[in-house]
Amino acid sequence: MNLLNLFKKKKSYICELMNNHLHFSCRNALEPCCSANVGPAFVSDLSNRESINDFVKEKMKYIKMLKDGEIPSNCKNCVHLKPFEKTTDFRINKITLNHYTQCNCACIYCTQGNRTFEKIKEDENKPVLFDVLKFINELYDNDLIDKQKLYIDFQGGNISCLKNHEEIINTFLHRGVGTIYIPTNNIVYLPVIEKLLVSKKGELCTALDSGYKETYLKIKQVDKFDKSIDNLKRYISAAGNDSIIIKYIIVNGYNDNLDEFKMFMDKMIELNVKIIVVDIDYRDIIDGAFTIPKHYYDIVHYAEQTCKEHHMDLGIPPYTKSVLERGYSIK
Ligand code: SF4
Ligand code: SF4
Repeated sequence: MNLLNLFKKKKSYICELMNNHLHFSCRNALEPCCSANVGPAFVSDLSNRESINDFVKEKMKYIKMLKDGEIPSNCKNCVHLKPFEKTTDFRINKITLNHYTQCNCACIYCTQGNRTFEKIKEDENKPVLFDVLKFINELYDNDLIDKQKLYIDFQGGNISCLKNHEEIINTFLHRGVGTIYIPTNNIVYLPVIEKLLVSKKGELCTALDSGYKETYLKIKQVDKFDKSIDNLKRYISAAGNDSIIIKYIIVNGYNDNLDEFKMFMDKMIELNVKIIVVDIDYRDIIDGAFTIPKHYYDIVHYAEQTCKEHHMDLGIPPYTKSVLERGYSIK
């Protein structure tokens, strides 16, 4: 062994997600992130968890490891690792709630589709994997939350199937929160979403993916196109259109044609929706070796033109943008 290596100073790192994020996962664990790497668990079994002090101790242990140049095995090669910078604020400013796995539709591209999702009836509530509220209240009690910045991201299944969604949302509103992001299939109208939108604390995002109900049925596997549109109308008339995001995920062989997309855009104009996101089915992006067909560009081009004409915002997620720019996806 080269003796000099013994005295070489190890590089120090920092991970913002490790410092300030919390992910309540469907693996029953509490983790810093839900990135592809999935970092170390701060608490490995929340249904049988240790005290809040144990969580803080564990978290600070990993932060120190990074500072000392010891990268936890789950974090190796992660893009979120950055050169060390001194920071003193370790309060939580983002919480992802991924502790439930039920949904009342079955999108063919759902990440959870082939794993834990159970297709359930529209009005049926299933129990969650574990109780997040007790832990969240303790975080507030111990001043471990940055209330101004706190961003809540409901992932998991669909929020209408989460038994205590209303109680969770009301707890955040009562104890202090910046923004609550609600991805929803919008099949069930929820007064608490309307309340959030009216209070300007919420963002609703729904993937409609279609202009015709027949296409919706093929993609979502439930016949709820009209219901979803009606619910959108209700939210917009109660709270305006500032915080409502409608997605069109281009799914190969299902909705990847200009006629469908034009119909979708006509509906959005009629509903006075102001924020559109165009994306590509992640399976084509992540699985790799997918050459973007010309008609995908026609759809994106039509989206750009129509949004400009009607003063709508168009979002294209960064990774999708880079795939569109290079013309193909790689694994
Ligand atoms: S370095 Fe990556 S894997 Fe590790 S905690 Fe941060 S985001 Fe997660
Ligand atoms: S609405 Fe969301 S959670 Fe439900 S099946 Fe579709 S992608 Fe999955």
